[in-house]
Amino acid sequence: MLPSTEYVEAVERTLDSRFSFKCHKDVSCFNKCCHNTDMLLTPYDIVRLKKRLGLSSTEFLKKYTYTHIDEQSSHPFAVLTMSENEGGACAFLTPGGCSIYEDRPASCRYYPVGKGLMIRDTETGPAPVDFYFFIRQPICKGFDEDNEWTIGQWREMQGLDVYDEMNREWQEIQLRRDNPDKPKLDDQKQSLMYMASYDLDQFRQFVFQSGFLNLFELDAAEVEKMKDDDVALMKFGFKYLKYMLLLEETLKIKDEYKKEYKPS
Ligand code: SF4
Ligand code: SF4
Repeated sequence: MLPSTEYVEAVERTLDSRFSFKCHKDVSCFNKCCHNTDMLLTPYDIVRLKKRLGLSSTEFLKKYTYTHIDEQSSHPFAVLTMSENEGGACAFLTPGGCSIYEDRPASCRYYPVGKGLMIRDTETGPAPVDFYFFIRQPICKGFDEDNEWTIGQWREMQGLDVYDEMNREWQEIQLRRDNPDKPKLDDQKQSLMYMASYDLDQFRQFVFQSGFLNLFELDAAEVEKMKDDDVALMKFGFKYLKYMLLLEETLKIKDEYKKEYKPS
């Protein structure tokens, strides 16, 4: 979620940080947090939601999201569209709650906790380290309830392990690029970044129906898996992003094309 920063606590928390919270159907604010909110999506959110809704990624993104370009990093993000009627409700909200609850996005699962990633000095040198914070919106009365959690317990209860594991590499790519020393992305790179991050079905066409497979030395088993496995394709997309954004030589061009092609 991209909460209004006025509600984001400035204090950094850890997995052991404790808080009292309970969200349930009888709470006076039930469903209020699912209105007028900027819910940023991750690649694994799309994998889950397209499957859940039986849509292609292209159809899902067109129907349910808009694109936000981050001013500082110039990176493109897919954000859930809220309806213009019904008080700005999320398209998946019903009177009984979230209609896609089992596949709801990672940001919805974390709320009212937020998670960030930052480069820190560690025993083995600078490395990306997770940090957490609370989002205390006045509309949310869950903090008045007396169920006590650590952030680690909340994370586990919300089924976030798999989401964090799947999205980690992508979040590290964002972090490595989100640096004043890095040039802003041009339109073409923004489109490629968006496609490899979110529009898996279009990325599959790009990989399988262009000269891509001829250009690079690729593992045959990995290529075979990507044909119909979205998670395998998503992970290959992260590899492609590192190469395309000049972060790592994750792909190798075949010798015969080396003179002709260089990512710029
Ligand atoms: S996806 Fe579900 S939990 Fe998330 S904002 Fe929409 S209705 Fe609420
Ligand atoms: S506003 Fe807070 S307590 Fe109310 S439904 Fe949303 S998360 Fe639950």
